[in-house]
Amino acid sequence: MFSQKLLIRLKNAFNVTVLTGAGISADSGIPTFRGPDGLWKDQEVEKLATLEALENEPEVFWEFYNWRRQLLKDIKPNFAHFSLVDIENYFEDFTLITQNVDNLHAIAGNKNLVELHGNITRNRCTSCDHIVPMEQMAEQAIPYCDKCGAIMKPDVVLFGEPLNPKLLRQAQTASAECEVFFSIGTSSVVEPAASLPYIAKANGAYIVEINPESTPLTENADEVINIPAAKALTALVLILDRIR
Ligand code: NAD
Ligand code: ZN
Repeated sequence: MFSQKLLIRLKNAFNVTVLTGAGISADSGIPTFRGPDGLWKDQEVEKLATLEALENEPEVFWEFYNWRRQLLKDIKPNFAHFSLVDIENYFEDFTLITQNVDNLHAIAGNKNLVELHGNITRNRCTSCDHIVPMEQMAEQAIPYCDKCGAIMKPDVVLFGEPLNPKLLRQAQTASAECEVFFSIGTSSVVEPAASLPYIAKANGAYIVEINPESTPLTENADEVINIPAAKALTALVLILDRIR
């Protein structure tokens, strides 16, 4: 499944960076955005998950996000998430960058985690930045800030919003410094995350893509493992156990 070249790289690597997307949570039962699952009540997710939707149609916006939170209630990390916890322990310097907002990497237990697009289990005030974790949220169709009264948003990066510059810098640095870069379960089209493997490649890293489907990254990767993430990463842990 893995080439000899990759195994030699991994045997000697000090610094490994992983970027994950919605595909890694697919085996936990969370729908991805693109493809047939990318609709909610016949509306495009990319139009719902926006600041404009929050401003113009707060009821619809919050109905959508409350539905997404409801979906997450019974969902657990899968073998792909747990394998990344094991993999982290094999390297001195390991960074896990995720575009997912589902909190599953944190629940699984990865330590050096960059949640580039935020985390849906928190609310953030649109005016004063007050944060409320899910456990402390009152049952409200539309949540308002108990400090200043402004409308709250889920603490995620909505389409059209900029990323947290500190987290983006952290992700770019980890990409530039690694020897092996894994892109796992992402369609590689959402910027600026989609550029991270190219930053890694420009700095000499070996790029591995794990995804059953082709993406714009596929032809630029050094190695492509086109099977589901849980299967590939479970196998990778067994190999690391042997070679490290
Ligand atoms: P995407 O939905 O655009 O792409 C998912 C990718 O995963 C596809 O390329 C697909 O082929 C691949 N895939 C499907 N099953 C897989 C499996 N078992 N193993 C490996 N790969 C698999 O997701 P994206 O690239 O992350 O971008 C979508 C945006 O939507 C992101 O910004 C993200 O924040 C957000 N999002 C997050 C979640 C979540 O938190 N779980 C879910 C949906 C969307
Ligand atoms: Zn506030």
